[in-house]
Amino acid sequence: MSLALNIDHGTATRPIKAGPVDLVGLSRREMAGELAGIGLSERDAKMRASQLWNWIYVNGVTDFGAMTNIAKGLRAELAQVFTVGRPEIVSEQISIDGTRKWLFRFRDPAHPNMPPVEVETVYIPESDRGTLCVSSQVGCTLTCSFCHTGTQKLVRNLSAGEILAQVMMARERLGDFPDGVRPTDGLVPPGETRAITNIVMMGMGEPLYNYENVKKALLIASDGDGLSLSKRRITLSTSGVVPHIEPTGREIGVMLAISLHAVRNDLRDVLVPINKKWPLEELLEACRTYPGVSNARRITFEYVMLKDINDSDADAKELVRLLAKIPAKINLIPFNPWPGSNYQCSDWDRIEAFADIVNRAGYASPVRTPRGRDILAACGQLKSETERLKKKDRDAFML
Ligand code: SAH
Ligand code: SF4
Repeated sequence: MSLALNIDHGTATRPIKAGPVDLVGLSRREMAGELAGIGLSERDAKMRASQLWNWIYVNGVTDFGAMTNIAKGLRAELAQVFTVGRPEIVSEQISIDGTRKWLFRFRDPAHPNMPPVEVETVYIPESDRGTLCVSSQVGCTLTCSFCHTGTQKLVRNLSAGEILAQVMMARERLGDFPDGVRPTDGLVPPGETRAITNIVMMGMGEPLYNYENVKKALLIASDGDGLSLSKRRITLSTSGVVPHIEPTGREIGVMLAISLHAVRNDLRDVLVPINKKWPLEELLEACRTYPGVSNARRITFEYVMLKDINDSDADAKELVRLLAKIPAKINLIPFNPWPGSNYQCSDWDRIEAFADIVNRAGYASPVRTPRGRDILAACGQLKSETERLKKKDRDAFML
């Protein structure tokens, strides 16, 4: 008797034909490698990679035809093999306070038959700065009980290119590239300075669960010959993935924010369940020894104000005591409600009383003003449309 084995592992869900390679998100060395791959000599590849880097990151150019210091024939060849990726804009909402929220859709050009994913990115203008809140994952594997993103299953990690593309697209929309035009709605600070001066990795997802891609994206964003965002103006927020905290300081060198939210392990286990894996003592020790931490480079501790949960005077005093030996800033975040959430924001009097205790311990202006509440763009309210994807489709491209 003969047996025929079916070794078809579901080719229908696999890429059929690879599309052009996206240059956004490649390191300079990788870019040169790709150019060598289409036949350029090592020296030429290096030189052309520098030119492309400048066109892409300094000038925001996506059309190879406009790259005038590259020979016409080569431009045409590049356009066939490569692309400079920008997400599709599904929606752009503008809050009455000037906050903008985009829903971006990404298709992976190298895997065109995979379903697209969608992420949210938020721009928060202030008088002296403009901050872009960037997503690192579609959804989140963690389930912090007060966070809207936490109710959405992880669909997948974003690639370095997709993380950067949020910055590139936002800069394009805000007229932040040399030929760009600033929106004239009066909601983006005018003038010579950039619209986006700061980046916070505080959008959807846990950046330290997508460490390699986040690292690559942030090193490109801070590259002095490209986007040139200062590492002191880039903040990575984590719920407390302790083993990745030291490498973040040593290898990326950006500012760190910790989602603390509770001063006792029993409560933090409920609010930020990753605490069961890495409890407060281990988290705070990682902060004490964070590479580069100093009074000039403090760690931000985020603390969401939840009515009758974590907002007593005793909690405030314990917070101050816990952080005594760490160069720290404290950021009290009024809880931003979302449809279906089980918590309430602390009353304003309570927030003030809590802030007073924190203030008296020497921490300045600790309460974060909620922004973009009317368009559900405030901290912890982000949740993409992608979760509407049928489970079947999701499973097909789960990494
Ligand atoms: N996953 C990362 C970064 C994204 S969340 C982290 O947890 O740090 C950015 C910040 O918003 C975190 O401090 C998070 O705890 C907080 N947050 C989440 N949901 C919130 C809500 N509904 N109201 C206020 N802050 C919230
Ligand atoms: Fe994930 Fe951060 Fe939300 Fe927690 S707070 S569920 S880690 S996005």
